[in-house]
Amino acid sequence: MAKRDYYEVLGIDRDADQAVLKKAYRTLAMQNHPDKNPGDAQAAERMKQVNEAYAVLCDSRKRALYDRYGHAGLEGYTQEDIFRGVDFGSLFREFGLGGFGFGFGDSIFGGFFGGRNSARRGPRRGADLRYDLSVTLEEAAFGSVRTIELPKVEKCPACAGTGAQPDGLADCRRCHGTGQMVTEQRSGYSVIRQITVCGDCRGRGKTIKKACKECRGRGVNEKTREISVDIPAGCDTGYRIRLEGEGAGGDDLPGDLYVVIDVERHPVFERHGDDLYLQKEISITTASLGGQVEVPGLKGSLRLDIPEGTQTGTVLRITSKGIPSLNGRSRGDQYVVVKVVVPTKLSRREKELLRELEALRQRSGGESHGEDRKG
Ligand SMILES: [Zn+2]
Ligand SMILES: [Zn+2]
Repeated sequence: MAKRDYYEVLGIDRDADQAVLKKAYRTLAMQNHPDKNPGDAQAAERMKQVNEAYAVLCDSRKRALYDRYGHAGLEGYTQEDIFRGVDFGSLFREFGLGGFGFGFGDSIFGGFFGGRNSARRGPRRGADLRYDLSVTLEEAAFGSVRTIELPKVEKCPACAGTGAQPDGLADCRRCHGTGQMVTEQRSGYSVIRQITVCGDCRGRGKTIKKACKECRGRGVNEKTREISVDIPAGCDTGYRIRLEGEGAGGDDLPGDLYVVIDVERHPVFERHGDDLYLQKEISITTASLGGQVEVPGLKGSLRLDIPEGTQTGTVLRITSKGIPSLNGRSRGDQYVVVKVVVPTKLSRREKELLRELEALRQRSGGESHGEDRKG
């Protein structure tokens, strides 16, 4: 049977953008997902096609190949390659569909990944890893490069993974080198014969008499490896960076590493999207007469004009001093919430002046609000 056109499978135009593509995929996933069609083999088959079509078309490189050469353009790709890079787990979560997670062993992915049928398909793909990375607000705002350390388990080169010195292996005494334990149990006229893996040698048939000095008999060495992570300017908590092939396991097909950003709380700024908020205390004189104050900014201090007669709680805006947007095309604003501070511990002279002010305002029948304290 000829393979169907991917665009046709998803029912979209050839120039459909990512949003249209995702919407079409969502609709079809909702219709054909096994959660909604328990036991329906045809729905599972359709889901398989839909997944594949989506996986190819959402990746600009694979899509370009497909657009130019059709299915032939992807002949060099294994199923694994085709699905790599698409996070169906989080897509399904987003759609509110069943937990297929990162596990690609499920039937709707064609059973190509991991698990039962994969033995003759060669190396298995390692697991995807998640690494939570805390960054400062400044790093998130302007981007940075961070180096993270990950543990790496590799086969001990000295003993090639056996855990023993060259002459240090001996036949397991318990299973006599077979790796198996056979027990027989008589029950009436029948004999129940049970074969289990030997617990002493874990089925290897050999035990270590002289342990490898490098790995102390473990057969593996744990090292750390350093990975450099580019933190894009404008990212926020929950932003994910995918590092292809940096996940766990397998020299052949390692999984991917997902670095998930967590932006730390800032002592001064509060972030809302790309905008920043902070509180600034000003004196009653500055609030009444107006003036200029300094407020902290992400990059050094900023000057802010306080208009005459500013009330506490007034929010003033400094444009384009917030967080740059992820696409780099715009920048958020910085908002300053003004708090007018009433002075305490006044000197006698200061009290006199304030009473004088109060008297003046009463005489002019001014806009002062009540609060007449005759003294
Ligand atoms: Zn070793
Ligand atoms: Zn044994």
